[in-house]
Amino acid sequence: MDIKRGFANAVGNTPLIRLNSFSDETGCEILGKAEFLNPGGSVKDRAALYIVEDAEEKGLLKPGGTVVEGTAGNTGIGLAHICNAKGYKCLIIIPETQSQEKIEMLRTLGAEVRTVPAVPYKDPNNYVKLSGRIAAEMENAIWANQFENLANRQAHYETTAAEIWSQTDGAIDGWVAATGTGGTYAGVSMFLKAKNPTIRCVVADPMGSGLYSYVKTGDIKIEGSSITEGIGNSRITGNMEGAPIDDAIQIDDREAVRVIYQLMEKDGLFMGGSVGINVGAAVALAKQMGAGHTIVTVLCDGGGRYQSKLFNRDWLASKGLSPD
Ligand code: PMP
Repeated sequence: MDIKRGFANAVGNTPLIRLNSFSDETGCEILGKAEFLNPGGSVKDRAALYIVEDAEEKGLLKPGGTVVEGTAGNTGIGLAHICNAKGYKCLIIIPETQSQEKIEMLRTLGAEVRTVPAVPYKDPNNYVKLSGRIAAEMENAIWANQFENLANRQAHYETTAAEIWSQTDGAIDGWVAATGTGGTYAGVSMFLKAKNPTIRCVVADPMGSGLYSYVKTGDIKIEGSSITEGIGNSRITGNMEGAPIDDAIQIDDREAVRVIYQLMEKDGLFMGGSVGINVGAAVALAKQMGAGHTIVTVLCDGGGRYQSKLFNRDWLASKGLSPD
């Protein structure tokens, strides 16, 4: 028998999918970790589960308690599922710029959702800081604090990375991923470097994020913007601190959109925007490294969460973008 004992037990063990059209074009094996197949639909189910179970083990989260978080959506969706499955309440603070699909999904799941204006991290009313203050003022509540809480990257070190290692029999040449909290990138790169220091670990960065310039020059400089959600950073988060970084690759929205539509039309994979950045960067890394290498990235979530944006040609045109 192979039975998953509830939602928590069904998180992880996702397939590693060869992205055929991109692999054939580059002569490399470009492999995507299919995180959209987690039971809550994204890579963030793993971090949400580790954060909740860590708080339970430490006695911080008690029966009837509330999990509070500031999130671009996917962590909140993961937490809302886990809170339902474990009997907790969930309070989510989300910037109003995030897709309506994610916000409605959170409400459907029964989370209390507060949408707030999108302001930079340095502003005291930034959604992350706001969520910390709200949690501190509540009785029997914890702040998930995904950006600084190292249970996040631990989830990826112990599960995502270990799965990638065994699924490839350790035959990996490159690992590339964009960062939101950095939990996925850091957990996987720390594990891979410990196993084999020659594996090239590369940060993928959208426009409007400061990590590319940080890796290239040591300074965080922010230029441009991106329609992608859940990724990009103006600071080094707790989860990114100490993560091995060999290089960074910047991918603009034009390329991300082209990649998303190719994934859909040629590979049969209906993916969210951050996947366009990840796979675009994996293709760029494949070209840098040359044919014959194996490069792993993340298929963070599915396209259904962005149907009104990425898959709406009028909306794309309003941003000066087109799939063609
Ligand atoms: N892609 C999407 C769609 C996300 O929601 C997130 C998380 N915010 C990421 C990528 C990045 O994951 P991480 O927080 O582990 O860096």
